[in-house]
Amino acid sequence: MLVVMNVGATAEQIEAVARAIRELGFTPHAMPGAQRTAVCVTGNKGPVHRDALAQLPGVSEVISVSKPYKLVSREAQPESTVVAVNGHAIGGTAIQFIAGPCSVESEDRMFGIAERLVAMNIPFLRAGAYKPRTSPYAFQGLEKEGLRILDRVRERFGLRIVTEVLSEETVDEVTAAADVLQIGARNMQNFALLKKVARCTKPVLLKRGASATVEEWLMAAEYLLSGGNRQVILCERGIRTFSDHTRNTLDVSAIAVVKSLSHLPVVADPSHAAGRREFVAPLGKAAVAAGADGLIIEAHVDPNSAWSDGAQTLGMDELERLVEDVRRYDAAFRRT
Ligand code: PEP
Ligand code: MN
Repeated sequence: MLVVMNVGATAEQIEAVARAIRELGFTPHAMPGAQRTAVCVTGNKGPVHRDALAQLPGVSEVISVSKPYKLVSREAQPESTVVAVNGHAIGGTAIQFIAGPCSVESEDRMFGIAERLVAMNIPFLRAGAYKPRTSPYAFQGLEKEGLRILDRVRERFGLRIVTEVLSEETVDEVTAAADVLQIGARNMQNFALLKKVARCTKPVLLKRGASATVEEWLMAAEYLLSGGNRQVILCERGIRTFSDHTRNTLDVSAIAVVKSLSHLPVVADPSHAAGRREFVAPLGKAAVAAGADGLIIEAHVDPNSAWSDGAQTLGMDELERLVEDVRRYDAAFRRT
């Protein structure tokens, strides 16, 4: 249920609606928009008595939301959410880039990569200190030492750090080191982790599970918003299909669909979709053409010696070409 306020409704009227919702035993979530505020009603176990809300001063209309997700829907908030990370927007009018190695590696290598990102005007560095690996024998990440290296990268280069939080126990330490917390595909439905991250003050990049429907993905995001974190970026990273010519199948249609169903920004990860370096650029461009707000790309100064996911990792020159191409495209088709 959504209570849409009149244009110019006062803060007192909005608060009176929120109070009435609480008195009915539900939870109000005010969603301020550019023009008007909508107050979303969640937690209803029985029917909501819409008339009790419809007649309150300042209320324009009361709408039933038929979808299982509410706070992430465009019905609740028609304006697109812009997640701003220390002055750098994701979901604004310009395409944004996040790039870096799959895993945090030595400080030397991270500095070499960071230097190239800064030269390309890429403000976000990605790299995992905690890695979700299919094999228990594979490199699991530098863990705490990796977080310390990320701190030094931020300090020296001023880059914003995007890094994965793998478990509930490490939320606090990863939150301290990250500017954006990544929740990986394998954890998209780790509801205990989602609830804990929902209470963090840092933005979250929520990857789509490899076998998740769009609705399941949006419900996972709903956990974050309903738990109090509105700074959520969705990430399409490819799904598992019958096709095996790429590591995963980049679901380009999901990008367009989610942009219409939800106000949250959507970025694409063509690296984990492609699995092979030569297909990262075409898939990245396809994602941007479909409406993605940005790209997260694995890149390295020496991709063939990367500690994980080298086969899909671009060299820094390849990254630069892709970024230039996408920026030209973006300038030509800017979504103002
Ligand atoms: C990653 O970004 O390195 C990663 C592990 O991604 P995903 O969760 O999409 O597999
Ligand atoms: Mn990876």
